[in-house]
Amino acid sequence: MFEDAIEALENSKSISIPIEEDKKGYIDKQCPSEDCEFIFKLHKYQLETVEENDKLYCPFCRHEALADSWYTIEQIEKGKEEAFNIIKNKLHNAFKSGAGKFNRRQKKNSFISMSISVKGGIKRIQPIPIEAAEEMQLEINCEGCSAKFAVIGSAYFCPVCGHNSATQTFSDSLRKIQTKNDNVEVVRTAIEFSSGKDEAELICRSIIETGINDGVMGFQRYCEGKYTNFGNYPFNAFQRLHQIDELWLKATGKGLNDWLTKEESSTLKILYNKRHILSHNEGLVDDKYITKSGDKTYKAGQRIVVSSEDIKTLLTLLEKLKQGVESGVNSI
Ligand SMILES: [Zn+2]
Ligand SMILES: [Zn+2]
Repeated sequence: MFEDAIEALENSKSISIPIEEDKKGYIDKQCPSEDCEFIFKLHKYQLETVEENDKLYCPFCRHEALADSWYTIEQIEKGKEEAFNIIKNKLHNAFKSGAGKFNRRQKKNSFISMSISVKGGIKRIQPIPIEAAEEMQLEINCEGCSAKFAVIGSAYFCPVCGHNSATQTFSDSLRKIQTKNDNVEVVRTAIEFSSGKDEAELICRSIIETGINDGVMGFQRYCEGKYTNFGNYPFNAFQRLHQIDELWLKATGKGLNDWLTKEESSTLKILYNKRHILSHNEGLVDDKYITKSGDKTYKAGQRIVVSSEDIKTLLTLLEKLKQGVESGVNSI
């Protein structure tokens, strides 16, 4: 009676549950480092070239581990659940066929007859594949090995070769800021229509002001990524222009004065200080702002104004800084 069940268990020592790709052909992966657990996607063609003993790298923290340790927590949970279901169903089917055999062996004309019945029909033993998470917008092609991967937010490293993709990521962030900035008026019209002028003004102001912060932070991350071979730097150093200048001068012999004109430097200084006051003083001008930025157009107590034009200027200047850093780093 139990032979079929024992056989079913023997055959279930390893059950493989397929993992689905998303519409663009990407497979979900997750950094196994408990401090990070960054979720990203790697293209299926890329995964086909990865051997069992190859390592993968986390795009966010560069943690490295063997290729088979990058299943997402969700895939593992769902996989366990599905494997359990399959074993349960296999056992059910085995008991059912075992019971059938037992019943057939009973002699019809004996004094006592026994029969066993297992309720329910035959159950599925084909695993249901684990679904892919939603597609991610930022798709990256590694400059080093041309691997295709996708992330949400930002990534610094290629998951296949570990190449530092700071340049690519920064270009993507600049492009995103520009798109947002270019579309402020479209957003304004849409919100005015649905919720009124006040709401529209509030939201559009916030979109523009976030642009300045995203630009400064994006450049900070870019510098941090590019500086990895040049030693340590103080925490948040690449948020401050004088330290950006100092550190790159030390590393490459070139700094802000080599990359920007005097006028551009002063404009950038004002923009960086505007960002500072928005982040740390809710946009209210104080004496420190006036001294540090050299901006004479405000008096203490006023609210800073960031315009769409400011964002355009910031993007142009950051692009220039990026080219400066690139040529500096490449010349070493
Ligand atoms: Zn990680
Ligand atoms: Zn790569």
